[in-house]
Amino acid sequence: MDRPTLAVWKFTSCDGCQLTLLDCEDELLPLTERVEIAHFPEATPRTRPGPYDVSIVEGSVTTPTEVERIRWIREQSRVLVVVGACATSGGIQALRNLADVDEFRSVVYASPELIDTLATSTPISAHVPVDYELRGCPIDRGQLLEVLTSFLAGRAPDLPDTSVCTDCKRRGLTCVMVAHGTPCLGPVTHAGCGALCPAVRRGCYGCFGPMNGPNVPALIPLLRRHGMGEGELDRVFHTFTTAGEWT
Ligand code: SF4
Ligand code: SF4
Repeated sequence: MDRPTLAVWKFTSCDGCQLTLLDCEDELLPLTERVEIAHFPEATPRTRPGPYDVSIVEGSVTTPTEVERIRWIREQSRVLVVVGACATSGGIQALRNLADVDEFRSVVYASPELIDTLATSTPISAHVPVDYELRGCPIDRGQLLEVLTSFLAGRAPDLPDTSVCTDCKRRGLTCVMVAHGTPCLGPVTHAGCGALCPAVRRGCYGCFGPMNGPNVPALIPLLRRHGMGEGELDRVFHTFTTAGEWT
């Protein structure tokens, strides 16, 4: 029986989330026995034409060409999984959404007229329907493997939709905000990292983006009470997930 095909696509990004797949060293070989890697330029020059059973998409949409390309990939893919802060909320490059992209272009590039770009950096879901979104910068390898193995097992993946506080409690960590007065975005941030930062007594700075239905207005007075000024508040909500919906 033919193995299902897997394609990995890059849009505007740093490649870090694709590297997370390559970093699954112990799991990658068994995985390649179960799926055929049909397109993954980061790993192999071999490619085969679609359609594809599963497409993993990294990166945000920042050029007119990428708008067309993501529509084509959606048509070619049975299941579309978008991975990382760029693909799920525009990424760091979405800082352009708050500024004048023509000014950036004229300052950064020697020949700005050669740069064909959009005024915004947008998540993949702004352009096509997606099946699963994995948050993070980069993503968590455990979540990536969960999506792929659940596909092979014919079941829905078990992905969290709660906040980082939930992971914190599961690990039995002391709350850095309550115990040490450290500002923490955990109550409004999507779970999935395993509460990495509170585990080393740092506050969460929201790199997994907003959880479903985050109560940001309730958290802001607490963050202020623990020393965050307006500038810091603005920065912390506009770093990895500028185009994400915090409110
Ligand atoms: S440390 Fe942060 S994430 Fe953990 S329980 Fe406290 S507020 Fe929530
Ligand atoms: S910043 Fe928050 S979401 Fe990111 S690793 Fe730290 S605790 Fe997890």
